Amino acid sequence: MARRGITAALVGALAALLAAGLGVAPPVRAAGGRVREKDVDLDETLRLAAILSDHGFEVALTRQDDTFVPLRTRAASGVGADLFLSIHNNAGPPADHGTEIYSQVNNARGADTARALLASITARAGTTRRFAVARVGAHGDYYAVLRGNPAVALIVEGAYISNRAEARRLADGRFRQLLAEGIADGVEDEFAALPRPQAGPGPPPRTTTDVLLDTPAQLVATRVGPAQAVLRWLPVDRATGYRLWRDGMLLGDVGASSRPAALDPVSGAGVHRYEVRAVLQAGDEDVQQSASAVAELVIPWRVVLDAGHGGRDSGAVGRL
Ligand SMILES: [Zn+2]
Repeated sequence: MARRGITAALVGALAALLAAGLGVAPPVRAAGGRVREKDVDLDETLRLAAILSDHGFEVALTRQDDTFVPLRTRAASGVGADLFLSIHNNAGPPADHGTEIYSQVNNARGADTARALLASITARAGTTRRFAVARVGAHGDYYAVLRGNPAVALIVEGAYISNRAEARRLADGRFRQLLAEGIADGVEDEFAALPRPQAGPGPPPRTTTDVLLDTPAQLVATRVGPAQAVLRWLPVDRATGYRLWRDGMLLGDVGASSRPAALDPVSGAGVHRYEVRAVLQAGDEDVQQSASAVAELVIPWRVVLDAGHGGRDSGAVGRL
């Protein structure tokens, strides 16, 4: 429950976790027939991380073991993310059960994603569909992990750990796997196709000279950081420089050199299209532009997963 203000398929999942460099959750069953939300949330989150990584999402975790992470740090980790999911399991009167999703106040994209997750989780895990809402507090969002979070941020309350039947289900890895798969289904419904550029720079202007510049060869765009790419290509004879576009937008010119290259501060999920042309100038005037060399750079959707609670904060505790 969010603080106001866890055989083969499993081996495969564990292998995928290790391969993806993600943590491995501690056992979920606590002593004395109890189950702690923090352990369930972490296990569920790591399973979800493995599925989303497998499906091409860029996944970051606020915790990957039994560590305490302050709410402010969690909310701040949404920087640069397309989606932030805080994974919890609920507590309330013993009879309460089912799935709830909380989105941010006045965030239409978040509200849509919350409805999609409510549908996909309940369909996959067979839980009761409770609601998808935004909860208002004294300073905007009621929940600290959503308040001031720069990403589209949601709290996913998969099931009720305070409900005996659901506590037993949560203690079972197969059910946690279903919750993880249900969340992934909804994320993939909402974050399906990566955006693609709609325009290009158009054809090169007609030239008056009869010897055409070659098109730059072997253009490669490589991501070298969360918000940077480097472009490299082979030099073109007679070129005095090169002109670069990304997604139809002019980035500028770079001078001629034996190893032409350029850095571009690109961010934002999508398939980005680069075009590079060789240019022959006399003074500041273009005499000729070559045809475009084209390269694409794929930046995946970035999802931050926040396993609820951790360390000294156990979250809710369920009885089996
Ligand atoms: Zn919680």
